[in-house]
Amino acid sequence: MISRIEELLRNNRAFVEQQLQLDPGYFGKLAEGQHPGFLWVGCSDSRVPPDRITGTSPGDMFVHRNIANLVVQTDMNFLSVLQYAVEVLQVQHVIVCGHYGCGGVKAAMGHEHHGLIDNWLRTVKDTQQYFWHELKDLGEAARFDRLVELNVIEQVYNLGKTHTIQAAWARNRRPYIHGWVFDLRNGYIRPQTGMINDNDKIGEVCKFTNGIVGGALRAAA
Ligand SMILES: [Zn+2]
Repeated sequence: MISRIEELLRNNRAFVEQQLQLDPGYFGKLAEGQHPGFLWVGCSDSRVPPDRITGTSPGDMFVHRNIANLVVQTDMNFLSVLQYAVEVLQVQHVIVCGHYGCGGVKAAMGHEHHGLIDNWLRTVKDTQQYFWHELKDLGEAARFDRLVELNVIEQVYNLGKTHTIQAAWARNRRPYIHGWVFDLRNGYIRPQTGMINDNDKIGEVCKFTNGIVGGALRAAA
């Protein structure tokens, strides 16, 4: 019986044959270099493959993934990916994409200890605390969905405040940054923000002005 790992290699050989039938020069062109138009910042969840759900191909999208699609200002891995994507590859769009049913967000909502990952997810707990005035009246399922959305919006804010993005916007108001949520239940992506390419626009969707997209503004206090 073929093992699951052998199956992957067999699938790879089938992929090569299929691509060569479509275009004998395919791999030669792929090897020449990459010019992706997008940087994807997504969750590591196996059910959210960025190329499959967006219909993109090898070479279209530079990708960074971690648990709960977080933009952490001290994460050298992420910051390096971002700098390379923006300054060298000159992507036109950076997309932060979360997803409903996110295990990382769910873990951050509870009180159980999960070990090391609790440190990573601390920022999601902070978001929950910050927006508790809005979340507390929701049922559990609706609160989970809303925290997934708010988490994405917070990461868009964090992304917009990175040195790389601030410097790029000062140069030429690119790239546009976006906050999306993928719905595992039906396959659709639900944008949570518009196209953002300056500090005014980021202020419109993120917490320091109102923090609520598609809902009522917070009462002025
Ligand atoms: Zn997730």
